[in-house]
Amino acid sequence: MRISVKAPAKINLTLDVLAKRPDGYHEVEMVMTTVDLADRVDLTLRGDGEITLDCSASFVPDDIRNHAYKAAVLLKERYHVREGVHLYIDKQIPVAAGLAGGSSDAAATLRGLNQLWNLGLSLDELAAVGAEIGSDVPFCVYGGTALAKGRGEQITHLGAPAPCWVILAKPPIGVSTADVYGNLRVPEIDNHPATGEMLMAISDQDFSLMCQSLGNVLENVTLPLHPQVRQIKELMMASGADGVLMSGSGPTVFALVQKEAKVHRIYNALRGFVKDVFVARMLGAQEGEMLA
Ligand code: ATP
Repeated sequence: MRISVKAPAKINLTLDVLAKRPDGYHEVEMVMTTVDLADRVDLTLRGDGEITLDCSASFVPDDIRNHAYKAAVLLKERYHVREGVHLYIDKQIPVAAGLAGGSSDAAATLRGLNQLWNLGLSLDELAAVGAEIGSDVPFCVYGGTALAKGRGEQITHLGAPAPCWVILAKPPIGVSTADVYGNLRVPEIDNHPATGEMLMAISDQDFSLMCQSLGNVLENVTLPLHPQVRQIKELMMASGADGVLMSGSGPTVFALVQKEAKVHRIYNALRGFVKDVFVARMLGAQEGEMLA
């Protein structure tokens, strides 16, 4: 038996860091939404109980360091499952890009195994297992649009934002999320995003308020280190983007636009500057068909 599950990328519409906690994690407040740039995870039942993994991108680890592999091991142990699984990840989301590709693969694996192994678990139960793998995994289990608090695992579901295009550009550098958080000086942050206004923009489907309320405090660390990220933001704005922001810890930058003609203009301007450019749509509210 074999099933395939989509693992969509996420972008941060806001990312705020409120405090560094005694346990070493940061207290965050983020509005996140899924876009239709997605990996595909194929899950094939193994009767011998083994867990194995292949990925189309050879530089992605294929053992316990892979978040999807870890998800399968945790779920198998937690629910005393006798069967195994072979996982194949068709990688479309750029790696170490601020788009939660690994977290989304883990979440897709949890959803897929729930079906393949007939576990009958709720999304909340899967999200609780996901939280042990990484802070972004619970959000990825649900998909859609949400406010994430705590270290990212406390999820409040939101409605769909105003429909729009998302143009993503990733400069050819990898950014370590741990390093970016490590270099952030929380007491010195003076550009906290207007999270309340972003929540209002989403509930009113107000596209221009959504664009005005975009904000990510991790830009304070990543932009000075990688001038290309700022250059991409400037190029997007100069080409007519309605709003631009770096996603997560970067280096991917996204532009939001509503008019299709602008999509082509921004895409063409970026292609002369950076190779990895993607055009996507926001997936909006939680979508049943996405949750295999
Ligand atoms: P986040 O936004 O959650 O910090 P990211 O998009 O910045 O994530 P990922 O693409 O998830 O970063 O990859 C981060 C690291 O995790 C990579 O260095 C990679 O080696 C490792 N990794 C583990 N599992 C996966 C996976 N399934 N896909 C991609 N990378 C993975």
